[in-house]
Amino acid sequence: MTHSFWNHGLACGRTIGVGVAIIVLQFPLRAQTPPARLSAPVMTYRADRILVMPKPGNASALTAFHAQQHAAILAEYPGIGGLQVLQVPAGETIPTIIANYEQSSLVAYAEPDYLCHLNATPNDPKYLDGTLWGLNNTGQGGGTPDADIDAPEAWDVLRFASNIVVAILDTGIRYTHEDLAANMWINPVDGGHGLNAFTGTNNVMDDQGHGTLVAGVLGAVGDNGKGIVGVAWRVQLMAGKCFDSGGNSSDSLIVACIDYAQTNSAKIINASFDSPGFSLSVSNAILSARNAGIIFVASSGNNGANLDLAPHYPACYDIDNVVSVAATTRNDSLWSLSNYGATNVDLAAPGDQIYTTWSPTDTFYTSLFSGTSLAAPYVAGTFALMKAKYPAETHQQLIARVLNAVDPLPALAGKCATGGRLNLRKALSPPINLTFHSMLNFLGQTTAQWRIAAGPTRNFVVEASTNLTTWSPVYGGTTSAAGTADFFDPLTGNFPRRFYRVVAEP
Ligand code: CA
Ligand code: CA
Repeated sequence: MTHSFWNHGLACGRTIGVGVAIIVLQFPLRAQTPPARLSAPVMTYRADRILVMPKPGNASALTAFHAQQHAAILAEYPGIGGLQVLQVPAGETIPTIIANYEQSSLVAYAEPDYLCHLNATPNDPKYLDGTLWGLNNTGQGGGTPDADIDAPEAWDVLRFASNIVVAILDTGIRYTHEDLAANMWINPVDGGHGLNAFTGTNNVMDDQGHGTLVAGVLGAVGDNGKGIVGVAWRVQLMAGKCFDSGGNSSDSLIVACIDYAQTNSAKIINASFDSPGFSLSVSNAILSARNAGIIFVASSGNNGANLDLAPHYPACYDIDNVVSVAATTRNDSLWSLSNYGATNVDLAAPGDQIYTTWSPTDTFYTSLFSGTSLAAPYVAGTFALMKAKYPAETHQQLIARVLNAVDPLPALAGKCATGGRLNLRKALSPPINLTFHSMLNFLGQTTAQWRIAAGPTRNFVVEASTNLTTWSPVYGGTTSAAGTADFFDPLTGNFPRRFYRVVAEP
């Protein structure tokens, strides 16, 4: 069983146990009932049930208390200490009835019936055997544990971007590949999967291999029992074939594929290529895509060079929808040949010793490849999931979320604008913190006001406990656009000590 909580902020109303001390405040004891309910908690638990553990020897008193509470026993487990599942009467709220039971002295604890979900572990063999270190790094292969994008934690939040079209500007895609076919975008007009800019047709079969590598990292089919899993398990991969079998292209072909992507409602473009030549036409095409809300993810290139001194394009186009990506290793260092730049590179992502789909056959996969071309699709796949999660947000908002969510790394300080490596989990579900904000006067009593800080418009639940073991929801809400919300507990003074923590909905 996994509860869908990422992490906890914790604070205490009076005295504090070892190891959790954040703030200590003294409160007068007082007996008082709250005059009004705060606000409806976000339902991370069932509204119609709670669980209680009876204390021994109180059976008849507890039965009477159930009747008083209009709570019916739905199930009872003598083998689990007499644990009871109770039906909560209509109109009663979970925090209230839990408080009633906890104050009755008849139960060891009462708790909400939290909603549970299956852990999102895909069955793809190369994920399960640890080959895909960029998604989940436990130190396999000489790596550093957690030098990864926290994909399994992120997939507990979201793993499907089924309605998001991502255009891959590359050598085409082997669209018949066993681990890609189901995620190919289909043009409703001609049934094809994209544009071949050389021929003007929809023949986008990959005759070189590079585009198929990129496609697998971004969106190989997850949980199909085959091969690998992409950052997004489901997504719509559009192929913009603008590189030939020798790996060559030109600006006019790139413009054609950007225009095709925009015309056919792609939301993300992956550009795993670079050139030292600035093109007004490509720049204008990216600007046009920007005005359509398209995010343009560019690899930084593989010259071991500082792009702030010697720009490469498209990574260095100064347009606010361009996100440029350097490559990291399984030890969270900058990959030796990765380009970098404190101004012109935004963030890094795994790009060394990457295993992915390849084009020779429909069942072919690479050995371990390296390059910023493989780092960019980690980021593009992330944006596909971000767009699926926040469909109404602008490209600036989505980019800010991803860049604010990186894991800062010493090896990347001064090497890219964020100084960090992609973290998909933090992007999809930012950490949430609870801190003291101010004292306020509530009906003549001085009480503490707490501040929740997280990402914008984030649903949260504040829980309280007297013993750090049993937690009950006391307040629910949503953070502001600035990412904060304040609350206070009018019952604080009723307890010798009361702890608080805040948990986030994914
Ligand atoms: Ca991790
Ligand atoms: Ca697969």
